[in-house]
Amino acid sequence: MLKHAISFGLVAFLLMAEGGPAANAGSKLPDPGSAGVADKLFRLDCGHSLANDESVWTPGENVGRSIEFSSTCWLIKHGSEWLLWDTGVPEAAIKDPQGWSTLPKLIVYHLDKTVTGQLAEIGLKPSDIGRVAISHTHGDHIGNVRLFPDSAILMQRAEHSWINSGNGPNDNVNRLMALARELLGAPKNLQLIDGDTDVFGDGSVILVSTPGHTPGSQSLLVHLKNSGFVILSGDVVHLEGNFERNIVPALNTDKAQSIASLEKIRQMMARAMRPMT
Ligand SMILES: [Zn+2]
Repeated sequence: MLKHAISFGLVAFLLMAEGGPAANAGSKLPDPGSAGVADKLFRLDCGHSLANDESVWTPGENVGRSIEFSSTCWLIKHGSEWLLWDTGVPEAAIKDPQGWSTLPKLIVYHLDKTVTGQLAEIGLKPSDIGRVAISHTHGDHIGNVRLFPDSAILMQRAEHSWINSGNGPNDNVNRLMALARELLGAPKNLQLIDGDTDVFGDGSVILVSTPGHTPGSQSLLVHLKNSGFVILSGDVVHLEGNFERNIVPALNTDKAQSIASLEKIRQMMARAMRPMT
């Protein structure tokens, strides 16, 4: 059946599915027989957090219970090119006992390792990263975008329009939008995309539109030689139970879109899967 590798985090819900001969029926998923492959996928530690009310993510359940999350960035090697997926909690928070926050009344983030330090361990400097793709603009995902001034920044046009639009429905959303504008800045090589996009043109790395958590949230479908297709789902879902029961966090901008995006991921997984032997 399905292989799940789940990190209960604001970034990482990793779903793995093996490619099979029937995987491409009527879908945008590349044909496993002909899709290119990315060479390597690295997990980077991009922070961890403690929130004081789980029910924000599980409305009506676990009210007032604290919950920990991990923040994860992913680094992909494709030939001689590198793509970074999300950038994590700002490096300024490194080993700060006070931590850092997007919504101080709800959640505090801590950072034990810098993203640039982890890149250096692999022998890379920020200017080696040709593309930085961001799942969405919450601060724990774009905290270090400015460390990559020479990279192409890939994001959905709907997300960029949203953070530059007027006021949101409540103070929390307004704060998140303002922080997003501040952290993103004005990248000199901003590439706004519309919907599903094949990054390298060979079916190996696909940006998949999965709105609902924010208006321009996206996921990343990566095809690896040995692991098959891997879906890096950003904040489309935070908890396995939410994925199983279509539970939508209170902070999401659109409940119906959120549920549709969960279904889109389920369908991608079903199409990419073959029975495990
Ligand atoms: Zn988020």
